[in-house]
Amino acid sequence: MMLPKIELHLHLEGAAPPAFIRGLAREKSIDINGIFDERGRYRFDSFRQFLKVYEAATSALTTPDDYARLTRAVLEESAASGVAYCETFISPDFCGGGDLGAWQDYLHAIREAAAPFDPQGITLRGIATCIRHFGPDRARQAARCAMETAGDWLVGFGMGGDENTGQPKDYAYAFDMAREAGLRLTAHAGEWRGPDAVRDTIRDLRVDRIGHGVRAIEDLALVDELAERGTVLECCPGSNIALGLYPGWRRHPINELDRRGVRVTVSTDDPPFFDTTMAREYDRLAEAFDWDDGQLRRIARTALDAAFCDGETRARILKRLEPGHA
Ligand SMILES: [Zn+2]
Repeated sequence: MMLPKIELHLHLEGAAPPAFIRGLAREKSIDINGIFDERGRYRFDSFRQFLKVYEAATSALTTPDDYARLTRAVLEESAASGVAYCETFISPDFCGGGDLGAWQDYLHAIREAAAPFDPQGITLRGIATCIRHFGPDRARQAARCAMETAGDWLVGFGMGGDENTGQPKDYAYAFDMAREAGLRLTAHAGEWRGPDAVRDTIRDLRVDRIGHGVRAIEDLALVDELAERGTVLECCPGSNIALGLYPGWRRHPINELDRRGVRVTVSTDDPPFFDTTMAREYDRLAEAFDWDDGQLRRIARTALDAAFCDGETRARILKRLEPGHA
């Protein structure tokens, strides 16, 4: 039987199957053929270019209904990988250009599209996300949208985008707003910058989790600190390898971080961009590090513990993780 999985780090647009985006672009006569290779996959060869292709693909998504269709397409893929619970990053910048009323419409459409999947065994929750390279003003705007829609479905606030833009403290105001609204916090760090970026992010944004954070391994004092604090890392090994951060699965630090007591979890980030799925991540990790089912179940438990949903939802999902649960 396929192991049940918990995914904490998934960008909704980044999970869009290329065929879905191509079809949508065709319907709307938007010309984005240049972002695909001859086999119809997303084409990029650096992180910068990846961000450009990502934004071009996202330009085909222009209405709440597009996001509803996207949500269904993504959840079908996740369900096929045995995902029982998933948190997805949704950006008010892409969903309504930072306008609160428009954001509410997008969010409503996404929630409605996800609801029928719940009784089928896969639950979705949202994390409103600001885009770092769009700057602190737009981050504040995104935080305002997040605050106004915080609740049992929109459970967190986060930051993605280009880690090389600005410093974490530039975004502290946005994160403070979100925290005051009761949202749980996560931010990408320690992917393109080193251990200091992880330290600054924890200190200045007071996040519960770190997106990636894997380069903490370059400073073992920080690794000990993370283990002690219980900071959860949303590791996305396939993404890191596809973007050239590590030359192969065996060289990825997730195993070493885990061995040193850091709470690591496994996610796909932007699966079709990186030619991965949750099932594939589990298979590659099992292969690379001899992780058995017990180890993989332990990782899923850590992820569920670190999920931003309410306790009642967590208890309900926990049942899906029990061995023998169909
Ligand atoms: Zn990410």
